[in-house]
Amino acid sequence: MGMLKKFKKSYYTLVDEYNNSSFLINTYTRAVAKLLPEEKENILRFLLDPSDESYKYFPVLYKNGFIVPSDIDEISKLQYFYDSQFYDQSNLTITLLPTLRCNFACPYCFENEHTKEMSLIDIDLFFKAVNSILSPIKNLHIALFGGEPLLSWSRIYPYLKEINNHSRNRVFNYSASITTNGYLLNTINYDELINANIRKIHITLDCNKKNHDSLRSTRSGLPTFDVIITNARDIMHYMLIKHYQIKIIFRTNLLNNTKDDVKEYLDSFSDDDKKHFLFYFKPIFNTNCFEISNNNAVNYKDISMDAKQRGFKIISPFDKYGFAFCSGDGGKNSIMITPDLKIWKCFNDANCHNACIGYINDKGFNWDENKIAKWYLKSPFNDRKCITCKKLPICFGGCPLYFSTKNKRHCIDSATMNLARDFLLDS
Ligand code: SF4
Ligand code: SF4
Repeated sequence: MGMLKKFKKSYYTLVDEYNNSSFLINTYTRAVAKLLPEEKENILRFLLDPSDESYKYFPVLYKNGFIVPSDIDEISKLQYFYDSQFYDQSNLTITLLPTLRCNFACPYCFENEHTKEMSLIDIDLFFKAVNSILSPIKNLHIALFGGEPLLSWSRIYPYLKEINNHSRNRVFNYSASITTNGYLLNTINYDELINANIRKIHITLDCNKKNHDSLRSTRSGLPTFDVIITNARDIMHYMLIKHYQIKIIFRTNLLNNTKDDVKEYLDSFSDDDKKHFLFYFKPIFNTNCFEISNNNAVNYKDISMDAKQRGFKIISPFDKYGFAFCSGDGGKNSIMITPDLKIWKCFNDANCHNACIGYINDKGFNWDENKIAKWYLKSPFNDRKCITCKKLPICFGGCPLYFSTKNKRHCIDSATMNLARDFLLDS
């Protein structure tokens, strides 16, 4: 009888090509290692039976998860982590949209009901409802989104401050973030950001000044690029003096931008900016109210890689959501609240009522269990194709909204994907 093998190649180890080189990658650990041409055959042969622990590359292959102990059931382990996160009741992330009003008029905006705004009574109901469910929660994160959430700042801020003070007696951890167009940041007192425990500010720029100002001007037509960057620098400067850790993240929207546009955009940041700000690049996608072909839909990750090579800190396209595809890929622990106090799993398609899973009123949170049950059906571990898919640890069965409306999978986009490049971006 042959000896039982102690190690095996990980199911999620693959070889990918990038820039005329071969890379060994692992979709579970996101590890990436360049295969030197003279070693490639040798390493690939070793991986077929990785039992010799004295092999010179054994430690590095093992440490990065390219090989794993033979008795590990990698799929069950992945399912365990996915389910643990999905059903976790100790963490709660609420994306709060206090208003759909906005001081910008971007042509591609998918939110078309710009008059909706949470009343003070509803803001009060919301925070009372949150307080009523806090006992099992260990970590609460409130992510402000809009519309432009700073238009509601003066009404929301006292509640955030109160939650922050309340959390200080260590019953739970609390943090907040804000996604803003950045224009009104200079109208608020920066100490309020600290008192509200805002730890991340996400600001959107539409690439270089010329493009940005043509797409993201104020409603009255004023340019905004310079104001936004000055605001971000001001806040960062203030927080450094206060020793308060805050991340300012520029989401860069790309819409048919040329290489020169991108170069001009990157040139507008100083070496100091590069030290303190974080960046990521995303193409603008078509929505139900905006349709245009976008030649950056495929090359945006190459643009990200170029920026990384120029010394910009790039946010990883992976790991943002842990063991989930997106913020909507979870249970009641990751929800969005709109100004009408409806509870949603995802707001990318406000017409999609499958994503609306309840409402808040004076009795607190009211869940539509039938809808939630449908959302839970999405688990990729119910699907043979996903279970055998080597991209499962980065895709987790794809968009839950797509699955809940069409009852089929939307596979992670292979057209824009080169795993070697994308994992290198990550490291
Ligand atoms: S559209 Fe799909 S992938 Fe995007 S946030 Fe909503 S559920 Fe997630
Ligand atoms: S949705 Fe497609 S790419 Fe994603 S895990 Fe399932 S089979 Fe793989």
